[in-house]
Amino acid sequence: MLKEDLDLFSKSGIKIPNYLIIKPNEEFKLFNAKKYVVKALGEKLLHKSDMGAVKVNVEREDVEVEMRKLRNRLGKNVEAFLIQEMAEKGTEIIIGAKKDAQFGDVVLFGLGGIHVELYKDVSLRLCPVTLDDAYEMIDETKASVILNGFRGSPQIDRRMVAQLIMKVCQIMQKNPDIKEIDLNPVILYSRGYSAVDIRVIR
Ligand code: ADP
Ligand code: MG
Repeated sequence: MLKEDLDLFSKSGIKIPNYLIIKPNEEFKLFNAKKYVVKALGEKLLHKSDMGAVKVNVEREDVEVEMRKLRNRLGKNVEAFLIQEMAEKGTEIIIGAKKDAQFGDVVLFGLGGIHVELYKDVSLRLCPVTLDDAYEMIDETKASVILNGFRGSPQIDRRMVAQLIMKVCQIMQKNPDIKEIDLNPVILYSRGYSAVDIRVIR
């Protein structure tokens, strides 16, 4: 399940925030963090924020309160909770991969949020991709401008992003049972990044 997927990604060198998965009514000991994010997980909660299943910026003493609120609102749809460390604000991108019946493994890159949903500003390549392919993918979208530090967004290491695109392709190719990967979003900083939402379909 989800824990396996998160472990697979963190073992593959992808940086994810500290986390804890808790079943409803299970006792738990929270890890230390400045702020937390509380997410309700379940088969019926695929698009979590649309369902009101994500609460960001939660103080330690409010984590259980927020879990209870989610449970009251979403009821039996909640199969587990994912408590994550709250990542700093940054530039959100998405990286996805999919097994295409005709073409094989395909990787997708784009800026997060309205760039993807409204403008469909994404680029696609067949796996495997070289570092140069991955740079091209970035440059084909508006991301190249944003990652250069447009209007106050931090300047981002393009190499770090390109390597992440390559890595997602590699994970896809090493795991033939995976049909789809969705890192949405990965939050980028001038140094480093955090993959805060990982969805895997097997
Ligand atoms: P979904 O895509 O299923 O709606 P996400 O896990 O992507 O749910 O959470 C929704 C949004 O909340 C993300 O796009 C991101 O902006 C923010 N978010 C999620 N997890 C974190 C986190 N650990 N730290 C900071 N922001 C987060
Ligand atoms: Mg998401």
